[in-house]
Amino acid sequence: MKKELICINCPMGCSLEVTYDAEKIIEVKGNDCARGKDYAAKEIFHPERIVTTTVCVKGAPIVVLPVKTEKSVPKGLAFKIVQAASKITVNAPVKAGDVIIRNVLGTGVNLIASRTVERD
Ligand code: SF4
Repeated sequence: MKKELICINCPMGCSLEVTYDAEKIIEVKGNDCARGKDYAAKEIFHPERIVTTTVCVKGAPIVVLPVKTEKSVPKGLAFKIVQAASKITVNAPVKAGDVIIRNVLGTGVNLIASRTVERD
């Protein structure tokens, strides 16, 4: 199988052409450094993303608070994390970096506030 990817490990953004089978990477072309091959393997077999979404906030001049996962999590959990966050309401004040959901969905990663919001 073949897949084209853009490596996002650095601002170079190399265009990768990846050849792989069900178990392993066979060849990566277009990478300017070895990290491109590692990126391709992770993206094809264990893709991860930083998840960004919002939660409701009470007692603040805004009604929704932007939140994100502290680290990347398995891409397949992104929608479930967004769903979990949609059920949360926090009370102001909140500081950027405050934990909103600890160990979200058992990933070992916290969902944290992306910005500070003062009380209304
Ligand atoms: S392959 Fe290397 S040089 Fe190219 S974008 Fe990835 S990290 Fe940067």
